[in-house]
Amino acid sequence: MNYHNYYPVDVVNGPGTRCTLFVSGCIHQCRGCYNQSTWSPSSGHVYTREMEDQIIADLNDTRIKRRGLSLSGGDPLFPGNVAPVLNLVKRVKDECPGKDIWLWTGYLLAELTPEQQQVVDFVDVLIDGKYEKDFADVRLEWRGSSNQVIHRFDLK
Ligand code: SF4
Repeated sequence: MNYHNYYPVDVVNGPGTRCTLFVSGCIHQCRGCYNQSTWSPSSGHVYTREMEDQIIADLNDTRIKRRGLSLSGGDPLFPGNVAPVLNLVKRVKDECPGKDIWLWTGYLLAELTPEQQQVVDFVDVLIDGKYEKDFADVRLEWRGSSNQVIHRFDLK
């Protein structure tokens, strides 16, 4: 997997102070996509074990308390991203007690493959669906267009 950006302290992509990872790779080709440079899975930087360790360490950093991890892109559920993202979300739940995980995908929850669903089983909040320019609304919170749905799961 490759990633485009990692923000160790982010107050924009999800509630509270968070760590945010923008991965590479997306097949959805939404009209009006704000992040077309992330579509190619080979764009950006190689996501390494060291990067993953850094995310875990940042989430556990008590000097700047983070509420959780946001995963965006690109698409974290792009087929080539599923295995490394599953590993990451499992580690966050194992090693970062109390931290939530938000994930943005262009896929619909109802259409996920079993492999993609495995990732979602570790996610607290999933925002699904393609960005639809005709339904775009800047007043929406955490979504770009009104067709997208915020699914909140009770993982307890
Ligand atoms: S899912 Fe996101 S990154 Fe992918 S094309 Fe749509 S808006 Fe762009």
